[in-house]
Formats: sequence, C-alpha cells, structure tokens
Amino acid sequence: MILSDLVILSASKDQVDTEFGLSEAQVRYRGKVLLATKWQERWSNSAKGSWTKKIFKEVKLNVLYGDFYYNQVLTRHGVFGGHQARLFGREGGRPCGKQLETIEHILLQCKIWEKERDDGPKRWLQKDISDLVFYSPFQKGAIDILKKIISSRLTS
Ligand SMILES: [Zn+2]
Repeated sequence: MILSDLVILSASKDQVDTEFGLSEAQVRYRGKVLLATKWQERWSNSAKGSWTKKIFKEVKLNVLYGDFYYNQVLTRHGVFGGHQARLFGREGGRPCGKQLETIEHILLQCKIWEKERDDGPKRWLQKDISDLVFYSPFQKGAIDILKKIISSRLTS
C-alpha cells in the first residue's frame, strides 16, 4: 500500500487535497537524492581520499566494483609498502629504494614494474588516471601487477 492510499483511507476529501502525500517511491527517491547530496558535500570537502577522489569526482549510490585486487587500486589501500608503513609502521615501504611504494608510483613510475608498464600502450602514460582506471586493458594490467606483488610478499 502506498502512502497516498493511507491518506485517502483516513482523511476527508479536503484533507486529501491538501495533504496528498508523496508515494513511497517518491519518498524513497527524495531520500536518495538527499543522501547523495550530503555525501557529495562530505566527499568534496574531505581532505581524505585524494587518490580515490581523482578517480571518482562524484559519489554514486550504485556499487561499481567488487574485485579484491582492483579495489586496492581504486582506494590506494592494500598491499602497497606505503600503505603498510602508514598503517602498521612497517619498514620496507620503498622496494625500489626510491619513492614510497604507492599504487600511483607502481602504475606510473616505479622501475620495478617498467616491463609490465611497457606491455601497455605508451599513450596510457599521457592519459589522466581518472580515465585510465575505467579502461579494461589498464584494469587487467593493474590487477596482474597486484597479483604479482601479493604473491611475492606471501612467499618472502
Ligand atoms: Zn619504485
């Protein structure tokens, strides 16, 4: 039963004209819009998640990804030395001896992963990360690198 049915059952015609409510679907829709607006405000104003914000400038209520590996790329949270060092105070955040190991360093700069990067087209490096991450060959390459990192850390 929708909200307007309830109003009609319990109200006189005058009240129906003035109190005619929103349908359940309209209430749900308005709630979603309000939630998305508030979430967007918080997302835009937060200092956190700068990497993820480069990728997702706008919040979305639908679930986009559920992949264990690719979520680490999108969130920057995971096996990366930089993240491990920040979270657990672990040493070894710089496997190449240069920059702190972050997902952007791995995907765009680190010489350890040069060969894997060379497998992809050179034009990738000129693209913005926010476009690249939705490109499925790039996703596949990133997931392959992540799998290699994870398996090497499990055995060492
Ligand atoms: Zn490096």
